[in-house]
Amino acid sequence: MNGGVPLPRLSIGSLGGTVSMQAAAPGHAVRPTLGCDEQLAKVPQLRHMADVEVATLGLLPSASLGFAALLDVLAWARSEVERGAQGVILTQGTDTLEETAYFLDLLWPFDVPLVMTGAMRAASQPGNDGPANLLSAAQVALAQGSRGRGVLVVMNDQVHCAAKVRKTASLALAAFESPGCGRVGDVVEGAVVYRQPPGLRDVLPLPHRIEHRVALLEVCLDADTALLQAVAPLGYEGLVIAAFGAGHVSGSWAALLDQLASALPVIVATRTGSGSTARATYEFAGAEIDLQRKGVHMAGQLCPRKCRILLWLLLGTGEQTALQSWLSQ
Ligand code: ASP
Repeated sequence: MNGGVPLPRLSIGSLGGTVSMQAAAPGHAVRPTLGCDEQLAKVPQLRHMADVEVATLGLLPSASLGFAALLDVLAWARSEVERGAQGVILTQGTDTLEETAYFLDLLWPFDVPLVMTGAMRAASQPGNDGPANLLSAAQVALAQGSRGRGVLVVMNDQVHCAAKVRKTASLALAAFESPGCGRVGDVVEGAVVYRQPPGLRDVLPLPHRIEHRVALLEVCLDADTALLQAVAPLGYEGLVIAAFGAGHVSGSWAALLDQLASALPVIVATRTGSGSTARATYEFAGAEIDLQRKGVHMAGQLCPRKCRILLWLLLGTGEQTALQSWLSQ
């Protein structure tokens, strides 16, 4: 209660990652050990902002998270909203945050914000950013202006949308960016300032199968075709290629894509880190005009890793015919 006014209900779940890590003794390396209540204990002011429910959902490095675990996390978050949470926060490792956030965003059906955060410095390191990130995540989760924006990633007092955010630095404190479009907002002295109103969102139904697999291959200079040829025989149901420049592959890769793209959905995205694939500029073998004639889908702005998440979910819901319209958004 806050002077007789009930506090908003905020649910926080933790999955592990650096934000949950500390060293057993000075000079030792860090491991995930802190549960959600211990992370919350470092931000005592949060208890005055909200009626907080906590759940330790895991203690994993984020490289070891998977789609099945994320569907369980989603079920937990949905049930928290159904029980009255006005905001939900997930803390996790930053290594896969750009992928998990997009996965959950594609399935998040509520106006209630789902805010994800983590830390670049472990709890036992000087200047650790976990508590500050958790506090800003709470400020974002409780802000009226955050409603209807799907899943948001809050790091370093910056708010990013799930479809755009990328981890662009391995160890720096300022490790997250939304290349090409910029972040959607900032946390300024505890207030959340958005640069634009929320846009329309499309949400996918829950997948009804999870055993299927989508491969992600990156092109590189003078790459042979052995892995590309193995994709279909190995049973992958979709392929994403992180391609050169505006979405280009070598002539030898292009020669195989005719057959492959008629057997399974193939998306070509750019490996550059920002910008869109082209549609109608280049016509050489392996360029976008040739690839589209072969039945390949150009990713547009979506990065290769997020393309894989989208394709996996579309295959799991049987909605892969909608792939092109999702990529054109
Ligand atoms: N370095 C990672 C992090 O920032 C570890 C992980 O992703 O779990 O949390």
